[in-house]
Amino acid sequence: MLLNIFANVGIIILNIYLIFRLNSEFEARGYSSLKKRVFFILLETLVGILLMQFSNVLINVRVDFRFLLFALALKYLGWRISLPTIFLVALARFLFDASSAAWINIGVAFFLILTMPLVLKFLMKHLDDLGQLLWLQTYTILVVLVPTGILLDELQEMLAINAILLALGSGLTILLYFVYEDVEKVFTLVNIDELTQLGNVRKFQKDSSQFEKQGKRCSMIMLDIDHFKYFNDTYGHHVGDLVLKEVAQVFLGLANPQASFYRVGGEEFVVLISDNRDFGAFEFANKIYQQLALLEIDYGMTEKLKVTASMGVAHQGILEEINRTLARADGALYTAKNSGRNQIVIA
Ligand code: GH3
Ligand code: MG
Ligand code: MG
Repeated sequence: MLLNIFANVGIIILNIYLIFRLNSEFEARGYSSLKKRVFFILLETLVGILLMQFSNVLINVRVDFRFLLFALALKYLGWRISLPTIFLVALARFLFDASSAAWINIGVAFFLILTMPLVLKFLMKHLDDLGQLLWLQTYTILVVLVPTGILLDELQEMLAINAILLALGSGLTILLYFVYEDVEKVFTLVNIDELTQLGNVRKFQKDSSQFEKQGKRCSMIMLDIDHFKYFNDTYGHHVGDLVLKEVAQVFLGLANPQASFYRVGGEEFVVLISDNRDFGAFEFANKIYQQLALLEIDYGMTEKLKVTASMGVAHQGILEEINRTLARADGALYTAKNSGRNQIVIA
């Protein structure tokens, strides 16, 4: 019995890792969200079947941690993936035996499909993530085991199993919650610059090679804050950091599906723009210029800090390698710096 519990926990932890690993792989390959969804439904169903494989059969009822899988899937993958999974896992239950418990299980699955999203919606209004998961798994255990106990005429025994599962499930939910949070942190932090929350160099390289693979052309803006060293030297490093954060906030406000911002150096940024006739890179650089001109940074004194930046813009040529485009944008930035800063130069 203990071995089966360990197997269940191991399978769910592996599942969490796989979700992140595959998701980043699919993103890199540019899979559509429908394709990703179908794949994850199949993965979660497979995991559900594996969990059943390692279940303990108590009074005809397969007791395992499917309810934890359902709660996690609904919370983190959304209803589009979790609800079909619940249905498919209930169908797969018949692979093990076609007992009355399997039929009850189908009914319970439908009930869960109808009610779980509403329960989560309610919980989200009142509790933090961990609280939501704990109550969601409690709800799922009760919905699965109480009717099963009544219909099989073994209510008392089922209630005892319930109590044990609730205690075990709560402990495991806490563990799995932290595993999920940690794995998520690892997978997102490798792509994000901690200070500004913009994409980092690694993410920029990933995304630009993505463009190259898909044969899509792009434009680039290289941007460097003017006389940034002055902020550090005059007001201290922490004010320098504040300037970077505030500038990044302006960028985050301007980011859109066609234009992504990355911090690629101390006070150097790149904007990667998917090539589109309706979306001019130079016009976008102008927009950045205007927004930066409006920025006033409050660093705790009466006077506010103003920031300017120099930019170099380059459009990728028809057969040009993306690194070459980047080098040209960099060259244009260099020209902007040498021509007195606070300006945009097109390569
Ligand atoms: P220019 O107009 O020619 O770009 O001059 P600049 O002062 O902006 O450029 P320079 O390259 O001389 O100085 C950049 C400074 O940015 C030097 C470095 O110490 C500082 N810096 C790099 N990363 C960080 C950071 O994360 N935080 C802070 N506060 N400063 C940083
Ligand atoms: Mg600079
Ligand atoms: Mg610089």
